[in-house]
Amino acid sequence: MKRIALFPGSFDPFTKGHEDIVLRGLRLFDEIVIGVGRNARKERYFPLEQMIHLIELAFRDYPDVRVIHYDDLTANVARNEGARFLLRGLRNTTDFEYENGISQVNRHIYDEIETVFLITSPHLAPISSSIIRELHRYGQQVDDYLPYKLVAQPVR
Ligand code: ADP
Repeated sequence: MKRIALFPGSFDPFTKGHEDIVLRGLRLFDEIVIGVGRNARKERYFPLEQMIHLIELAFRDYPDVRVIHYDDLTANVARNEGARFLLRGLRNTTDFEYENGISQVNRHIYDEIETVFLITSPHLAPISSSIIRELHRYGQQVDDYLPYKLVAQPVR
């Protein structure tokens, strides 16, 4: 059976830290589905369609990486995608506290799912989507943190 992992997140924006988790995840799984969570109650900074396009661009040479968007419980999305693994990155103890809770809940909802955590590569640990949003809001260049060029990308 194909080992499919769902990598869920807001990815607002998708960063080099996220890219690193996907690339390392490809050594463990046959296919990785990057699930961009769409939350109707939470407004995004980078539009969903644009982010999906940019992530697809970043992985255009990787046929085993797929990008979807969803507005549902992560465990339900995994089940629908045939994914028995959730992939998440751990940067620090704050991530751990949060992830510990959700991974228990996800397994309660879908008992065949296992969450696999990869410890962040040290040079990427300080990167967070919220810091990038803040830098971008005030006109700071953020390309160094992203696995694609933000400007000059047409929004679909
Ligand atoms: P969420 O809103 O669900 O926390 P994020 O888009 O912020 O989603 O992050 C998705 C996943 O990527 C989480 O597991 C998070 O810990 C991980 N992550 C975020 N930034 C990094 C990074 N710099 N290095 C490795 N993993 C990261």
